[in-house]
Amino acid sequence: MSEKTVLSIQSFVTHGYVGNKAATFPLQLHGFDVDGINTVCLSNHSGYPVIRGHRMSLQEYDELMEGVRANNFLSNYRYILTGYINNVDIIGRIRDTLKEVRELREKEDKKLTFICDPVMGDDGIMYCKKEVLDAYRELVPLADIVTPNYFEASLLSGVTVNDLSSAILAADWFHNCGVAHVIIKSFREQENPTHLRFLYSVKEGSEAAVRRFSGVVPYHEGRYTGTGDVFAACLLAFSHSHPMDVAIGKSMAVLQELIIATRKEGGDGKSSLKSRELRVVASPQVVLQPSTVVDVKPIS
Ligand code: ADP
Ligand code: CA
Ligand code: CA
Ligand code: CA
Repeated sequence: MSEKTVLSIQSFVTHGYVGNKAATFPLQLHGFDVDGINTVCLSNHSGYPVIRGHRMSLQEYDELMEGVRANNFLSNYRYILTGYINNVDIIGRIRDTLKEVRELREKEDKKLTFICDPVMGDDGIMYCKKEVLDAYRELVPLADIVTPNYFEASLLSGVTVNDLSSAILAADWFHNCGVAHVIIKSFREQENPTHLRFLYSVKEGSEAAVRRFSGVVPYHEGRYTGTGDVFAACLLAFSHSHPMDVAIGKSMAVLQELIIATRKEGGDGKSSLKSRELRVVASPQVVLQPSTVVDVKPIS
């Protein structure tokens, strides 16, 4: 229970709430020490007309890790969380980091959980280089928990996710890679477009039976950014002290309440990108303890 430490490898933006800007506050609110590696340092997310800034090189990643290693911080991390990277070499190097941290912690009989949010794109648009897809196919097998959106689950597995049965097939691709916990965060179903459905599929060990859970949340018109980044951070935080299905229900509820708060303050589906930035900092009570929990029901 005590070790609330995360190495979070994600983007940084000056304005708005995506990547580490979206994940750090929720994690800190839940009492986690968050050590950040900012894979990019940009003015804003890529939806805005202008984007300026810097992208980390492999050499810069290696330099940071050298300092982290030399000061013996590496064995501290109970969790490693990855989000937007968009650099094949860094994705490859993170595999080495994971193996190194895992070995260091095994010597001390300590656990490491790797949560991989394979950030590559959304709604049919890839916002990373094509080679990144292959790099993720090598990184994903090291993950304990994966949280793709339906588009990323489709890209990785080769199964077009558009309903529950295709989501299950996609989840099995991740299980076949050795991933225990697969959460496909949302997909729209033709028969009920007012809802978003999600799938949680768990298979702990190659011989274990698969268990599946699913549920729905109301669909809010419009595209919100940073939703997956806040979700993964909340999932990490809640799963530290709750079973995974409960953690998913709570994290889904956080997102619903955050989106509703954002819409109330003028960020509805048709408004500007700027007004649709999630109200993460304005809603600490929601992030800490949402007033509802979304049902995560076993699929029979
Ligand atoms: P990503 O942000 O990585 O593309 P999703 O779109 O699946 O991932 O969003 C993550 C979570 O945020 C979903 O599980 C859902 O709870 C919530 N969410 C995102 N967009 C919407 C929306 N338009 N309406 C309702 N919930 C949403
Ligand atoms: Ca999405
Ligand atoms: Ca595994
Ligand atoms: Ca995402």
